[in-house]
Amino acid sequence: MTTRTDDLLGRIQPTEGGREIFDPATGELVGRAPQASVEDLNDAVARAKTAQPGWAARSNDQRRSLLHAAADAVEAHAEELAQLLSREQGKPLNGPNARFEVGACSAWLRATAEFSLEPEVLVDDTSGRATLHWRPLGVVGAIGPWNWPMMISVWQIAPSLRQGNTVVIKPSGYTPLSVLALVEVLNTVLPENVLIPVPGRGHVGEALSRHPDIDKIMFTGSTATGKSIIKAAADTVKRLTMELGGNDAGIVLADADPKAIAEDLFWGAFINTGQTCAALKRLYVPESIYDQVCSALVEVAEKMPMGPGLDEANVLGPLQNEAQWQIVDRLVTAARDSGARILTGGDPDHSRSGHFYPTTLVADIDPQNPLVVEEQFGPALPIVKYSTVDQAIEWANSLNEGLGSSVWSSDLDRAEEVASQLVAGTTWINKHGAVDPRMPFGGARESGFGLEFGVEGLKEVSQPHIISR
Ligand code: NAD
Repeated sequence: MTTRTDDLLGRIQPTEGGREIFDPATGELVGRAPQASVEDLNDAVARAKTAQPGWAARSNDQRRSLLHAAADAVEAHAEELAQLLSREQGKPLNGPNARFEVGACSAWLRATAEFSLEPEVLVDDTSGRATLHWRPLGVVGAIGPWNWPMMISVWQIAPSLRQGNTVVIKPSGYTPLSVLALVEVLNTVLPENVLIPVPGRGHVGEALSRHPDIDKIMFTGSTATGKSIIKAAADTVKRLTMELGGNDAGIVLADADPKAIAEDLFWGAFINTGQTCAALKRLYVPESIYDQVCSALVEVAEKMPMGPGLDEANVLGPLQNEAQWQIVDRLVTAARDSGARILTGGDPDHSRSGHFYPTTLVADIDPQNPLVVEEQFGPALPIVKYSTVDQAIEWANSLNEGLGSSVWSSDLDRAEEVASQLVAGTTWINKHGAVDPRMPFGGARESGFGLEFGVEGLKEVSQPHIISR
């Protein structure tokens, strides 16, 4: 099949060899990804290090304009990028999926272009004058996951470049083509060696995390890998931003209107077919409206089409890979075996090609069930019944993760009061997972540390430097 992605693929595939990447919806070959060795990585870091002073020496205005030009380039290639992303990652073109993700790339490039960190005067009196300056760190190593490969790459690249750092980026081994294509497009406007991709498996990421000439690692991925990177980075005291796993709770309050919130609850949980760090992964609902919330969610879930991403009708896709499919299947099976009630889904069609797992809602589930306390990262939402709000808050706060959370109510003040008792980087009210480039985003507890987005995000890729006289 000839698609709009062929030109981009032609530019990023090796002339021969490479690792074959298959469409998770159809099993068809998408393309071949080059495989970087550790020697290639060392060469990339050396080139990025050499290029960094020249990049940092450009004016703020030049770097701002280049980020806008990068956004223009993404927009000019938006449909090819979205189609390639859909074929490799599995997410449909429509819904909050591939086209949405490519749109977020240009939106974040533009928003980040407009943030700026100005020097601050800290002291200016008879004792002297002290100023705070935000210098670039040097070379940033970016390591990303497979769920939102383009958007998360931009979250790492844009602030780093904005502040005068150069970037070596290692995409996930599952979705290298999406990131290589994005970088190819960005590099049509960026100077040489300011942004260098090194596609490879985990060992290339590990070498990046240990590399003495890498000044900072921005990592998004699982908590387990994050812990390895923290250890690997210790010897060179690298700066780190860790965006790790989540198991976000949502608490519905008794005054919420089940029908009014059902669609937003659904997308909070099932965006990108549940493969989203800050998706709603466990829902706590009071006894008084439990049945109404369950049936409103089933009604929404059963009208959302799931299938291959390039089919314009679909808004839900496959799991990106077999390993993730197995995790979801294991957790739903454990829930069913424990006596929980499957409201919809839970019965994968083994004869169907592709890693499809049906949209699954699970009710009457114990709060300690594995589907509740482990990150499912797929289309299966457990709905836990509670009797008091204090109990729901205690359950919500009982895990090691603390990325996002949400409270659903018609009384916004009451919702804020409950929100203030939740341990999380962000708590949304009557929505879930609504990231915004103006609002710093990061995790509590084992969901990580450091912030992305906004001026706070720029500080994370800068070295504070005080000059005191
Ligand atoms: P992963 O940890 O398996 O892989 C992430 C990246 O790390 C990949 O590029 C991988 O090749 C690389 N890697 C693997 N081993 C490494 C090592 N020893 N050293 C350095 N790099 C190594 O994560 P994933 O499965 O791709 O992503 C899913 C996870 O990411 C979920 O837990 C999800 O919640 C989390 N996530 C978090 C955020 C956030 O912003 N907090 C966003 C998206 C995903």
